[in-house]
Amino acid sequence: MRDSIEQKLYYQVGKIRIAANNRDWYVATALAVRDRVVDGWHRSTDSTYTHGAKRVYYMSLEFLIGRLLRDNLANLGLNDVVKGALDQLGVDFDAIRQIEPDAALGNGGLGRLAACYLESMSSLAIPAIGYGIRYERGLFRQIVKNGFQQEYPEDWLELGNPWQFERPEISYNIGFGGEVAMVSDSDSETQHVWHPAERVEAVAYDIPIVGWRGRHVNALRLWSARAVDPIRLDAFNQGDHVGALSERARAESISQVLYPSDETPAGQELRLRQEYFFAAASLQDLLRRHLKSFKTVETLHEKAAIQLNDTHPSIAVIELMRILVDDHNVPWQQAWDITRETFCYTNHTLLPEALETWPVPLMERLLPRHMQIIYLLNLMFLDEVKQRFPGDVAMMTSLSLVDETHGRRVRMGNVAFLGSHKVNGVSALHTDLMRKTVFHDFNAMYPDRINNKTNGITFRRWLYQSNPGLTQLVVDAVGPEILDDETLFAKLAPFADDASFQEKFAAVKQDNKAALAKLVRERVGVRLNPHALFDVQIKRIHEYKRQLLNILETIALYNAIRAQPMRDWAPRVKIFAGKAAPSYHRAKLIIKLAHDVARVINSDPTLRDALKVVFLPNYNVSLAEVVIPAADLSEQISTAGMEASGTGNMKFALNGALTIGTLDGANVEMLERVGSDNIFIFGLTAEEVEARRRQTIDSSDFIAKSDVLQEVLTAVENGNFSPDDPGRYRGLIEAIRYHDYFMVAADFDAYYRRQRDVAATWRRPSDWRRSAVLNTAGMGFFSSDRSIREYASDLWNVPTWPKK
Ligand SMILES: *Cc1c(COP(=O)(O)O)cnc(C)c1O
Repeated sequence: MRDSIEQKLYYQVGKIRIAANNRDWYVATALAVRDRVVDGWHRSTDSTYTHGAKRVYYMSLEFLIGRLLRDNLANLGLNDVVKGALDQLGVDFDAIRQIEPDAALGNGGLGRLAACYLESMSSLAIPAIGYGIRYERGLFRQIVKNGFQQEYPEDWLELGNPWQFERPEISYNIGFGGEVAMVSDSDSETQHVWHPAERVEAVAYDIPIVGWRGRHVNALRLWSARAVDPIRLDAFNQGDHVGALSERARAESISQVLYPSDETPAGQELRLRQEYFFAAASLQDLLRRHLKSFKTVETLHEKAAIQLNDTHPSIAVIELMRILVDDHNVPWQQAWDITRETFCYTNHTLLPEALETWPVPLMERLLPRHMQIIYLLNLMFLDEVKQRFPGDVAMMTSLSLVDETHGRRVRMGNVAFLGSHKVNGVSALHTDLMRKTVFHDFNAMYPDRINNKTNGITFRRWLYQSNPGLTQLVVDAVGPEILDDETLFAKLAPFADDASFQEKFAAVKQDNKAALAKLVRERVGVRLNPHALFDVQIKRIHEYKRQLLNILETIALYNAIRAQPMRDWAPRVKIFAGKAAPSYHRAKLIIKLAHDVARVINSDPTLRDALKVVFLPNYNVSLAEVVIPAADLSEQISTAGMEASGTGNMKFALNGALTIGTLDGANVEMLERVGSDNIFIFGLTAEEVEARRRQTIDSSDFIAKSDVLQEVLTAVENGNFSPDDPGRYRGLIEAIRYHDYFMVAADFDAYYRRQRDVAATWRRPSDWRRSAVLNTAGMGFFSSDRSIREYASDLWNVPTWPKK
């Protein structure tokens, strides 16, 4: 390994040791490790071809991967080897590990799920390819200036990407616009031929994804957009140097930036171009591969399963129909059967406004043939609906692929549902609500189609690599088999009452907290008491995730401490991190409020150590890997019915944090697994939220009954935390009083009380530690290996390791 690294440095990086900096060593090390990855990759591909195995294609517009060096080393079992080699070379492993930029090709949970699932598919030896876009700019870098979020472009490719393989030879032509010609052939059948007006080239870049114990390696294939004719030489030679490159700029804009929006569709043409671009390139790629092995498109559904991660790739359903019918002359009904049998769709949100729709005129202009196919599919489908539910106009209206009520728009959620043989939600509650709300009528039409696949996380990244101390402890307790079988986590439960195990468990947590305190000191200059209760809420900033509820509770606690400064308060640190979508003004105001409150609280000498508030800028996977192992309390406090699953909740509990949370998303299933004594549940249920919304969302009555909340709201409203701009939060507080859609006021008292229970339990260290152990012990179910096994057996019909 030492020789390989030196060789890579010398020949690939082109440096000698004395001239090499940490970046050079990082690249050399990554390249040396990549060689080992490639060996496994070729073995996996070879075996898939030889056995004619069915493949899974995971299509996602987001992959929130983070760094890969430590992940790859751990999965290959080369951690110690590489550390030893670097030691001999006099290079600090941790320093070069941190040179690697985060691959942040995603916004939050949805993209991180795709990354965890890719890793699990490799670990379970499922032949799979992840398809996405190689954004030049990932999720923006968040800088907080004076409490205000500022967005800066993230340049993850600045230093090159040693993991990737550029594949200029794998490129496809993607058309946009133009018209559709009708040609009659000899059998007097009408053929449709699409003549696009514009063409863009999709070029492949592969990143190999190594499974656990190097067992199997799959590729993440990302598409980059290139102009077919990069430069118009005639224009250039006539002196129009910019105009000569304009086509190139237009084409390449497709893979320039990740949409920095979370939950709400950007609703812009570029977004649709991105979606079609990557769906069309991926389909051409997988069909080429299929035809090479199996010669006919008619067996596609037997040899390929395509999973649509949310509606973003759902235009692929129509594109496959177009290819089968127009390019391969497959009869319509057979093409539709193949299509449906090939696709599955994962729904991620119940918010009707977050299910993508595209204006019909835009579709007609950009994808004219696809619009025709949608019309025809819709016609045949609504005919079926009419027969099943005669005279039910409401049913027809809600199932139609085209929404006629808000200006004419194509409903991509309906397209994805209709074009898939299985449609899944991401937690038991979410799936239940899908059946009752967004897809109620589809469920009546196709009762067996909706099913649940509760999300999971890869334990490799979120425990073994990010928390080696706790990993060693559980291995010592249960045996090394636990690393290969997540069901063995249950065996930790008996240790919850073991005083010496509790001690060790707490000591690991304490070390992790010291490491986080150091990072906080470096990044934001606040000195934390490492023995305080670390109370953490890190996730995208969103009203439904209710960071505001947490901040208001922080103020209430502040008021209580000030009223009785000499009481023996359990010291607490409130830690926040998260990005707000750049156009989401209220979310950005919430970030500002967190900073305003932190400034006041952290500078109040009467509090001494009892309370501190910090906001860590630029939340990403690498930051999560440091913060989560150090958390005592995990905040999962979304308005019930609004968080589809959450995966942050699972990461924290796995690392021995206790959760304070609502009965929302996967919290419900976590409660079932850890027991109500070991999780702090509070607040309205999804049903109660619904009922209350139907009544009123005016919360003034609630507020009148709560002195604590009253005092908090008045303080914020009067500018106590924003003397520079006393009116800053008036609108925010007014919304809570009179338009409390997210139930911040309605849930406040319950939350405040539950937080006092948290403090009381914290006072009893043995009880707290017992619960913490039981949280880790209860999380086996939430391994993404379990999720992927369910996808494999129920949706994809592919075997998983160990294969029998
Ligand atoms: C896990 C994760 C998320 C999702 O967190 P939730 O709390 O489920 O919203 C978002 N961003 C990053 C970087 C993550 O690691």
